[in-house]
Amino acid sequence: MSSVNENQQNLDFVRQIVADDCKSGKWDGRVVTRFPPEPNGYLHIGHAKSICLNFGIASEFGGKCHLRFDDTNPEKEEQEYVDSIIEDVKWLGWDWGKNLFFGSDYFQQMHDWAVDLIKKGKAYVCDLNAEQIRQSRGTLTGAGNDSPYRNRSVEENLDLFERMRKGEFPDGSRTLRAKIDMSSPNFNLRDPVMYRIVHASHHRTGDKWCIYPMYDWAHGLEDSTEKITHSICTLEFENHRPLYDWFIEQLGIYHPQQIEFARLNLTYTVMSKRKLLKLVQENLVTGWDDPRMPTICGMRRRGYSPAAIRSFCDKISVNKFNSTIDFALLQHCLREELNKSSPRVMAVLNPLKVVIENYPQDKVEYLDAINNPEDLSTGTRQIPFSREIYIERDDFMEEPPKKFFRLSPGREVRLRYAYFITCTSVIKDSAGNITELRCTYDPATRGGDAPDGRKVKSTLHWVCAKNAIEAEARLYDNLFTKENPDEAKEGKDFTAYLNPNSLTKLAGCKVEPSLKDAKPLSRWQFERLGYFCVDSDSKDGKLVFNRTATLRDEWAKIKNAGA
Ligand code: ATP
Ligand code: MG
Repeated sequence: MSSVNENQQNLDFVRQIVADDCKSGKWDGRVVTRFPPEPNGYLHIGHAKSICLNFGIASEFGGKCHLRFDDTNPEKEEQEYVDSIIEDVKWLGWDWGKNLFFGSDYFQQMHDWAVDLIKKGKAYVCDLNAEQIRQSRGTLTGAGNDSPYRNRSVEENLDLFERMRKGEFPDGSRTLRAKIDMSSPNFNLRDPVMYRIVHASHHRTGDKWCIYPMYDWAHGLEDSTEKITHSICTLEFENHRPLYDWFIEQLGIYHPQQIEFARLNLTYTVMSKRKLLKLVQENLVTGWDDPRMPTICGMRRRGYSPAAIRSFCDKISVNKFNSTIDFALLQHCLREELNKSSPRVMAVLNPLKVVIENYPQDKVEYLDAINNPEDLSTGTRQIPFSREIYIERDDFMEEPPKKFFRLSPGREVRLRYAYFITCTSVIKDSAGNITELRCTYDPATRGGDAPDGRKVKSTLHWVCAKNAIEAEARLYDNLFTKENPDEAKEGKDFTAYLNPNSLTKLAGCKVEPSLKDAKPLSRWQFERLGYFCVDSDSKDGKLVFNRTATLRDEWAKIKNAGA
């Protein structure tokens, strides 16, 4: 992984804190971070920012990063999500070694610490229900009201908490609350709930527990148990830090430092797992891995490379101000990376047949084509050429306007790696649609140059008709039409802004025969058309390609316009 901390000036504020701590010996030189997803959905590009930050710091400072599942809510969590998260973090290129942990493994310890707090008079069993607790919370300007159960004796609290644990009470009938301060200006300190009763099976602990810890109670204890040094989370937890610190201080246990950074927001998409789940459940997309989704698995299927995502996370850096990143920047990072790594091939998305009349009937010849001009070590391949080929329908116009330099009647153009051809006639069906072009070629221009030095104004990609493979291409546009779909107007929700044209399927595409054995997820540049990736729907010799990105870099345009 790249090492950014060589140049001290370039450290983001989190890395600066870590560097300072290493220098001062605050944690005895240890650096232990963690990525703590809740297994209640698939990871998205926002999580990638947190993953690259936590794993990146560990690798740059010679520390460790734990992968820890914050699995404290049995109602929303599933093994499927655990498996997908493991796959996605690995795919992004990170390794936690033996440091895979589950919050649920600490349930007994958390319970024992809760008993400690009860014994210290710092926690009590409350019989108010969720709604009553909400109502007694107070307002931004006014203090809340003490629960009538706040002053129960330690003995009574211990007894009731034990009976909660044993399953004597129905869901929601009681909670264990921290006894802090109902008039604190910070709502999080107004006697927050630590445990709730939920008779639900947990994906790992089964029916062992019917009380489950709340996030704020559990999270710091998980960090403490694992001797985390820097507990990095997003800004909305800044107000929770006093509570994080309070629990740990009351218990007198190992105390990690919580540091908050701004979460990633991207234009033209949504990032909350709840919203992504809604898209999946209501079949508004084909699944978590729909190539239009901002999920890691969706991006993988779309053709994003881990290196591109890591480079994006590097570029956006880490700070304390919430902002929204332009989707075009992500695609820019993607293009930079794919340009270097993707082999070039020729494919025709909207084929128009061309018959080269002066080319021998049964002849097939093989021409050299460069696999990747950005990486000549990848060598060349041979592509077949014969009397019938396909070109892109768009590359021909019967009556070309002034600035159209591609093929038209009487005009000569170059076929990439092959010959110059000249269009001699246009064949149409009875409805007037063009069905075929007739051309002649100049045998002296083999390889793409004329020995007499004559020039042509354009070079077209093409595929040999005899050997072409049939394929489907799926072209994508933004999933939403609005830059910020979360800003839904009255009465509408974010789904009102779904882009009806986010997916275009083109059947009957023709691709060159070298793609015959292209593996699922392999990435290619179709010359002049963009970056494409083989979809998992490819089967029985039928190839399906997802367009990962077009070749045009919108980000460069935006940047240049600003300059
Ligand atoms: P969501 O809001 O999408 O439901 P979450 O915060 O509930 O996400 P978790 O599984 O709890 O999801 O997140 C795991 C880690 O990823 C947390 O440390 C969280 O701060 C971080 N994270 C989540 N979303 C983003 C984001 N958009 N940008 C940066 N980090 C994020
Ligand atoms: Mg969360």
